[in-house]
Amino acid sequence: MYNKTAYEMGTNGCTIRELAAYGAARAQIVGEENVFNFTIGNPSLPAPREVTDTVRDILDNMDNLAIHSYTSATGDLAARKAIAKDLNNRFGTDITADELFLGCGASPELCAVFGALSMDGGEIIAIAPYFSEYEPFAQSAGCTLKVVAADVPNFQIRLDAVEAAITPNTVAIIINSPNNPSGVVYTRKTLEQLAELLNRKAKEYGHAIYIVADEPYRELAYDGVEVPFIPTIYKDTIVCYSYSKSLSLPGERIGYIYVPRQATDGPELYTAVAGAARGIGHICAPSLWQHVIARCAHLQPDLTEYDRNRKALYEGLRQAGYEVAKPDGAFYMFVKAPGGDSMAFCEKAKGKDLLVVPGEGFGCPGWFRLCYCVSYEKILRSLEVFRALV
Ligand code: PLP
Repeated sequence: MYNKTAYEMGTNGCTIRELAAYGAARAQIVGEENVFNFTIGNPSLPAPREVTDTVRDILDNMDNLAIHSYTSATGDLAARKAIAKDLNNRFGTDITADELFLGCGASPELCAVFGALSMDGGEIIAIAPYFSEYEPFAQSAGCTLKVVAADVPNFQIRLDAVEAAITPNTVAIIINSPNNPSGVVYTRKTLEQLAELLNRKAKEYGHAIYIVADEPYRELAYDGVEVPFIPTIYKDTIVCYSYSKSLSLPGERIGYIYVPRQATDGPELYTAVAGAARGIGHICAPSLWQHVIARCAHLQPDLTEYDRNRKALYEGLRQAGYEVAKPDGAFYMFVKAPGGDSMAFCEKAKGKDLLVVPGEGFGCPGWFRLCYCVSYEKILRSLEVFRALV
């Protein structure tokens, strides 16, 4: 006997991971240099030197038991204070440690937040294209995910479509900016208009509608583009942050949830987040990494290499005749499939050992995603293959 829903989630494997595994297998046969694997969002930059130095220092000098012990359920106080200080310095906020909950990266944090918001028939809105894992996260928390298309091809939020999707059961809308998979950053104007809409609807229905800001890519923005800190625009915002991308630590599982005390039912919601996290066994983010964050929360990534890749790929693809969403952030590019059939295009590309992810899995057929966390040299060589495919 087993849970059929869980079985389905297990069988509907993640296309990205499958494609990435295929790429790794092909590399064994034809050589790594001959596979253009643009699939998985694994940072290609090493973690900053300060991070690795801090790990060494902690291992060498901190009490061994203290390094590896359970921390409090909400996380090490020094780490929460360091995060609060960094956010306050950068965004002019007055966040305190007791509004922060240390988590094992954005994935379980989103599960905990959805669990905290979940009510009978609770609906959560996502803007397509969206990170496909929202589906199982929402489902496991007993919420229904309602998908609303973005404004193609600029991929900003379509407010009329969001308004049409809001019902009395709407508990939250997920905002992921910079966006995976589009690479688009939602503008301040878009977010202000969204805030105005949500305030109006919350008033109409007599309950809060939260923004769940899924922010693993907050620090990855180029050309000076602003990534607004959404709690300063809309008070009912819960932030799920991750150091997976900004500090290149996806395998270490560390991030935080910020539940503002000024949010509607803020303190209760914080407790509910901690309770929901407990309910999924999310009791302690890796202690070593909590201690690292206590010292490294202020670090910013050096984006020079990603930016070089981004520019070369964007220019190269456009010159080859591809339509590309303007990639202001993250390390993804969303490209219109020539001929309009993204599945067919990705299959054809696969035949040339060029691995890209069809938009179907992101709720946006007709487009495909590229992750440009590969070497610059490979980006340049891949353009030849892209040109042949167009
Ligand atoms: N949200 C988005 C939009 C992502 O792209 C990812 C990972 O790729 C996550 C959440 C999960 O990140 P984490 O590694 O912190 O669980």
